[in-house]
Amino acid sequence: MKIYSITEKNYKDKKVFLRVDFNVPIKNGIITDDTRIVATIPTINYLLSQGARLIIASHLGRPEGKPSPEFSLKPVAARLFEILKKEVKFVPDCIGDEVKKMVDALKDGEILLLENLRFHPEEEKGDEYFAKELASLCDAYVNDAFGTCHRKHASVYTITKFVNDIAGGFLIEKEVSALSKLLTNPERPFLLILGGAKVIDKINMVKNLLDKVDTIITGGVMAYTFIKAKNWEIGDSKIEEEAVPVAREIIKEINKRHLEFHTPLDHVIVQRVSEDATPIVTERGTVPHGWIGVDIGPQAIEEYTDCINRAKTIFWNGPMGIYEIEKFAKGTIEIAKAIANSNAFSVIGGGDSAAAVQKADVADKISHICTGGGASLEFLEKGNLPGIDVLRKE
Ligand code: ADP
Ligand code: MG
Repeated sequence: MKIYSITEKNYKDKKVFLRVDFNVPIKNGIITDDTRIVATIPTINYLLSQGARLIIASHLGRPEGKPSPEFSLKPVAARLFEILKKEVKFVPDCIGDEVKKMVDALKDGEILLLENLRFHPEEEKGDEYFAKELASLCDAYVNDAFGTCHRKHASVYTITKFVNDIAGGFLIEKEVSALSKLLTNPERPFLLILGGAKVIDKINMVKNLLDKVDTIITGGVMAYTFIKAKNWEIGDSKIEEEAVPVAREIIKEINKRHLEFHTPLDHVIVQRVSEDATPIVTERGTVPHGWIGVDIGPQAIEEYTDCINRAKTIFWNGPMGIYEIEKFAKGTIEIAKAIANSNAFSVIGGGDSAAAVQKADVADKISHICTGGGASLEFLEKGNLPGIDVLRKE
């Protein structure tokens, strides 16, 4: 897929509207994880170096269409200043006269951060009038907000109807290139690692990847849903009941294609999920009555590590257990380390999976970590996203 690149444009003296995903976690006014800000720095620096007058816009949290101080982007302006060591002006709205005035006062290489786009309900509705207002601020539009590209929001999708000069930033290019590599001629064997809790949300992605992958290994709620679909005992382990029939269908498809498919050979189980529980390991791939599966066991880790070592391409989505609790994190951490130590082209999708990779301290050994969980899953399901499609060259 070819999208318009910022490297083929001229931004000198131009007011550039840069849509980013600065949806970072903030506690008591302090940003606890700035990964998403850091991810857009190459694009910001490039545009500044080209003499752009930069208008940066983002959403933050779910303010439900009205101004709310807890969702203000003001702390982000301060963080951006620390990273860039350059003044970042801030305006407490994203449309209107005050915004226009500040935009008009911008000089080459200066930055203005707009307030949260979602303080206006029109943003999420993809409203044309609101998109036109945003478009009226700029001469050129750049999107680097990969995490929101699956949404037809005004600043991601509708705005492109009203600006002629449009392009995707470096982060979008990187995300699209990594995910496209999984969909188009991935080097084999291609291993899909499925875990986490949101089974229904991920089923369509799994279905689309069945034609591409050679091996599938499972953990977490995902694994228990498949084990249940095989009519094996899962005790009180968490599953998504409504996903069981779909899991059955998927097992049929897997068998039809003669793919290698694994549920864990053993499990770490507890009678109650808590920090002070005393976990034991099962001898088999089932969970006895009255017990809850919270992590994959040592035999499963060994078998999965072998699958990882054989793979040339890996996509991992979803932790292998309740990794937030130290006692139940081993399976997830070992899988992260095995992926890091393998020579495969590796892509991680999903917020918790990315957090687990950080926890295992191996992020720098992964080929690509997606910055948008929902967006990456939808890209793998459909091979495209609304916010990416509008940046495509005809
Ligand atoms: P991602 O954000 O990577 O897409 P999900 O959000 O689908 O992943 O799932 C992550 C969540 O799954 C974590 O909060 C983790 O505690 C939970 N989880 C994993 N295994 C289990 C399990 N066996 N039982 C209950 N919850 C689990
Ligand atoms: Mg998650």
